[in-house]
Amino acid sequence: MNIQYFKSKYGYEIEGMWYPRITAICSTIAKPGLLRYYANQKNFTVAQENLTRASNWGKLLHETMEKILQGKEIKIDPIISPSISAFEDWRNQYSISVLEIEKRVMSKNHSYAGTFDLLIEINGKLGILDLKTSKGIWDEYSLQIAAYVQAFNEMALPKAETRWILRIDQYQKCEFCPAKKRTKDIDEKAKGGKKNCSHKLGQVQGEWEFKELDNQDRDIEAFLGAKKVWEWQNHKILAHIDNRALSI
Ligand SMILES: [Zn+2]
Repeated sequence: MNIQYFKSKYGYEIEGMWYPRITAICSTIAKPGLLRYYANQKNFTVAQENLTRASNWGKLLHETMEKILQGKEIKIDPIISPSISAFEDWRNQYSISVLEIEKRVMSKNHSYAGTFDLLIEINGKLGILDLKTSKGIWDEYSLQIAAYVQAFNEMALPKAETRWILRIDQYQKCEFCPAKKRTKDIDEKAKGGKKNCSHKLGQVQGEWEFKELDNQDRDIEAFLGAKKVWEWQNHKILAHIDNRALSI
C-alpha cells in the first residue's frame, strides 16, 4: 500500500506528527455479524454496494442530528423523518446542553487520535456521546468511546465524567408476525418473523436507545490492547512513517 494513502486513510497529522485513528484501531476487532451478512448476500459486489448505501443513509441521519443540535435551520429528508422524530423524542426526555460537536482529540500518552461526535451535558453530567444508526449497541463501541474520553481528558478541563451511546433507527413491522424491515437494510427483506408469512409491512417508525457505559478503565485497557494488535498487523508500513508519534 502507498504510504501517503495509508497515512491519510488511517491517521491524522497533528503538529507535524502522525497519529493512528481510533476507528482504524477498532477495526481490528472481529465482527461476527458482518460474516453472517456477507454469507446472506448474492455476491461480494452486491454486498459492498448495499453496505455503501446503508452507510450513506446512516451518514445523512448522523449529519442531520448534529445540525439540529447546532440549532441550524434544515430541511429534513423524508427518508429519515421517522428517525428524527425518535431523536426529538429522546431530546425531550433529558435536559441537554451541547458543548462540542465533531471535535478532534489526540492522546499524547498513548499516541492515537480521533474525532468524537458530542461533548454534552445531560442532566448535569458532562460526558462524550456517540451517535449510532445501527441495529444494536455492539460491545466494541465501548472501546471506541473509551479512547475518546481518555484523549479528551488528557487535553482538557473540565474532564468528561461518563460515556453514552444514543442509537437511532427506523423500521416497518409486519402486521401478522414479529418480522421487521429496517430502512437502512435497503435491499434486504423483513427479518425475524415467521417463515411462511407473506409479510404486510406497516408504517415506518423510529426508535431510540440510550445507554450509559461504565468501567472506562477496563475499556481503555482493551482499546490499548487492540492498538497493539493493529500496530503488529501494520508494522511493515508503520516502519516507513518517519513522523509517527510514539507513546510517552
Ligand atoms: Zn410477517
